[in-house]
Formats: sequence, structure tokens, C-alpha cells
Amino acid sequence: MRAVPRLGPVVAAIAAIVGLGLVAPAAHAAPEAVVREDVGEAEAAAEAAALAEQLAERQQSLMSLNRAADARDRALIGYRAVLARYGYHGDPEAVSAVLPLASYDLSAGFGLTGPLWEAEHGGQDFSAYAGEPLVALADAVVTEVAYAGPYGMRTILTLPDGTEVWYCHQTDTSVVAGQQVGITDVIGSVGTTGNSTGPHLHLEVRPAGGSPVDPMDWLRDQGLDP
Ligand SMILES: [Zn+2]
Repeated sequence: MRAVPRLGPVVAAIAAIVGLGLVAPAAHAAPEAVVREDVGEAEAAAEAAALAEQLAERQQSLMSLNRAADARDRALIGYRAVLARYGYHGDPEAVSAVLPLASYDLSAGFGLTGPLWEAEHGGQDFSAYAGEPLVALADAVVTEVAYAGPYGMRTILTLPDGTEVWYCHQTDTSVVAGQQVGITDVIGSVGTTGNSTGPHLHLEVRPAGGSPVDPMDWLRDQGLDP
């Protein structure tokens, strides 16, 4: 009894409960076993509840991951369709270039000579309806938007490797010099300004800003089929 005050009231109470068990061990043997079993069941139930909670949390995070993947897939399908409209049918994440417009007929080719051109025809003509949207055929910087004599309204895009792409005879433009454009961004529309007999895109491709090469070869090198 001397120890009780030093242990404090809580410890005293526990000692009293344990003491009750010790007073008549035989009488309390069976209920004690039941109590232990109950504690085991309670522990198991608590464990099961905790597991269920963990599972629910895991399921929640999987669901949100799935939702994110779905959204990404939907965006990718949308992007895939846009790329397909401009002639690219491969992996969207591997795209390097697309066609500059969706709907056209090939007309005058590269290197032709004739009364229409002062020198060799330096580009490929795509005849199309006036107003047909023109898109950036690759990620690029707009380096010029201006009237350029026989080329009419001309937009020059400079690709990361220094290649210049000229879009000529436009009526409208929707970009300004210095602007960064992404592949398939609309940059203007088909027109017939400058030395032109009808609405078409005159497209030139000039590696490193130098002499023009055949745009058809360049587009095919990008895996396209113009
Ligand atoms: Zn032309």
C-alpha cells in the first residue's frame, strides 16, 4: 500500500484491476480468455479497416491517374487528328513537320522556267481556295511578314535548324515577326497577291536561309507524302 501514492492514481487504478484478477484467478479465467479474444478481434477489425482505407486511397489515386491518362489520350487523339489533317500519320510525339495546308492541288513544281517566272521557279505551288488556312509546317519563329514584290504578301518562318520557309501570295496573315509558332498553328490564309494568276500557296524551302531546294523533296524527307 505504500507504493500506491507514489505510482499515482492511474497506475493505482490499473493495479486495482489487475489485483481483482489476482484475487480469484479461477473464477476469472474463462472471461479473461474471452476478453483476450475480443481484443484480438478488435485488433483484426481495426487492421481490416485500416487496410480497407489504404485500398480505398490506392483506388482513389489509381482512378485519378486513369482520369489523367484519359484526358491525355483524348488530347493526343485530338492532336493526332489535327496532324492527320496536315498529312502526318505517325506518332504525334515524333512529328517534325506537316504539310502547310490541308486541301490543295499541286500545280507548278520547283525548277520550272517560263514566262511567269523571272528565273527558275524557286518553290512548289499548291493551288487552293482563297482563304484556305496556312499552317506552320514545323515549330518555328516568324522572321518576316511583309509584301515582297512578285511574292505578294510573304511570311517567312525560320526553323530551329536555320531553314527558312517562305509562304507567298497570302491575303491574310495572323502572325507577326518575332513570334514563336508551333507546328499546325495557323499563320495566315491562301491568296493571290503579287505575281499570281489565281489563289495558291507558293512555298519555298531555303536551308540555312540560302538557295531554295525542292519543297517536295524536303517534305518527303520529313516522312510526308505531299
Ligand atoms: Zn510559285
